[in-house]
Amino acid sequence: METFRIGYGYDVHRIVHGEGRMMLCGVQVASDAYFEAHSDGDVAIHALCDALLGAVALGDIGLHFPPSDPQWKGADSSGLLEQVVSMLHSRGYVVGNVDITIALQSPKIGSFVPAMRESLAPLLGVDIDCVSVKATTTERLGFVGRGEGCEVWASGLVRAVNG
Ligand code: MG
Repeated sequence: METFRIGYGYDVHRIVHGEGRMMLCGVQVASDAYFEAHSDGDVAIHALCDALLGAVALGDIGLHFPPSDPQWKGADSSGLLEQVVSMLHSRGYVVGNVDITIALQSPKIGSFVPAMRESLAPLLGVDIDCVSVKATTTERLGFVGRGEGCEVWASGLVRAVNG
């Protein structure tokens, strides 16, 4: 079994204006909009789940938690991440570190980044210094810049327990 494996994930969700909770990395950010989704719409956790699943070649989040299945309606994405981490554990891997980049024009989310890192670290079973979250705008370019959606890239390193 390989000692280290790396994975990469990407996700986009549409922004809807109105009453709702905008969730990123398990944290509700202050906003008058939210992400359209079958689950709670936490696009950052979805990208992170795909990165970790990718590291062990276990498919993607849509395979394990299909949007067509009513049991995932409104699902807390933190719970999905916990299940993904369990899948890694059952295959002999633990999370090493993760790195997430969130592209969002508005609201500004930089002040929520410390809370996001604190939210993810225990779910991943790592120290907070192994959880990187970065936020950027796209300088008003493209669908993110027009405020139509949020785009997230994530990478994750996993380590064999007995590697
Ligand atoms: Mg998603």
